[in-house]
Amino acid sequence: MTSLDDLPIRDDLRGRQPYGAPMIPVRYALNVNENTHPIPEPVARDIIESLARAILTVNRYPDRDFTELRENLAAYLGHGLAPEQIWAANGSNEIIQQTLQAFGGPGRSVLGFPPSYSMHPIIASGTGTAWLTADRDADYRIAPETAVAAVEAQHPDVVFFCAPNNPTGTALPLSTIEAAYDATDGIVFVDEAYAEFMPVDAPSALTLLPGRERLLVSRTMSKAFAFAGARLGYLAADPAVIDALRLVRLPYHLSALTQAASIAALHHAPEMLAMVDDIAAQRDRMMVELAGLGYRVFDSQANFVLFDGLADPEATFRALLARDILVRDIGIPGALRVTAGTAEETGFFLQSLADLGPGGAR
Ligand SMILES: *Cc1c(COP(=O)(O)O)cnc(C)c1O
Repeated sequence: MTSLDDLPIRDDLRGRQPYGAPMIPVRYALNVNENTHPIPEPVARDIIESLARAILTVNRYPDRDFTELRENLAAYLGHGLAPEQIWAANGSNEIIQQTLQAFGGPGRSVLGFPPSYSMHPIIASGTGTAWLTADRDADYRIAPETAVAAVEAQHPDVVFFCAPNNPTGTALPLSTIEAAYDATDGIVFVDEAYAEFMPVDAPSALTLLPGRERLLVSRTMSKAFAFAGARLGYLAADPAVIDALRLVRLPYHLSALTQAASIAALHHAPEMLAMVDDIAAQRDRMMVELAGLGYRVFDSQANFVLFDGLADPEATFRALLARDILVRDIGIPGALRVTAGTAEETGFFLQSLADLGPGGAR
């Protein structure tokens, strides 16, 4: 049998691991930060009608510039954004990839602050961009001086922030983004996949866009919007940035069906987002109850919680799996990450963890 090592694969890809969140069918899937609430039935019907109309013309290529979708995304984001400042792709992962294809690549580098989104280094590797890292401050925060020192020491072409940060849930002050931007001539990319779960008074990096043509802010419909399976990520930036991304995207990368489904879902944004407050309440409940069980809990502004103090995270992961619960072992010693689900799902997880005893050890 042929193995990967027998193939003439790029030298820099040898020995690399693909993205690998386990896909195990369970009753309580709390491992990849999806919105666990299904799409409301009337919304689903409206999306199906749009898809039914779109399928009648799939003999033709779709709108390459997905103009109507960009209009709807601009209106959803607000902040005075125009459709010319919006770009979209098959998930924000593809947005990140196109960003590195345009602004990274061989001979260039991207700086990240681990622990952060596991796809950032994988996409760096796939695009041949050197992956640089810098340490965070206590409790996974990044102070402005910390970011500036890293940028000045390493001179990256691109800086990745994740706000709130996956897998820690940590908020990122706008002052850190501003300071990093001023310290570099490169691109500053803020991954706001979990923005809708932030407190209402927490400002988005979108507010920093005016006058900052090297700042990119990405969002996704995968998390708050309960649309992970549809694959729609998007970006707000200066129109010149969008022109740069046009140079690397594949023509017609967003299918007519993706465009139709996403537009229909955006028309129902309030219903699609109705569960966000409930999910945030379950996140807050988990922070309180996990601390009550004796764990160290990190402040989260996203739809998941990182907690630490486990005697053996792998053993706890397996013990929870035996109870039909899937959480995420992100390789941080003593820690696991768990998605906030419905009240029932969250309650079942908390009770199951409590049953395992102190340190999740039984
Ligand atoms: C889940 C996640 C994404 C991926 O989103 P898609 O739009 O589904 O590709 C991007 N960034 C972060 C930080 C995430 O956690």
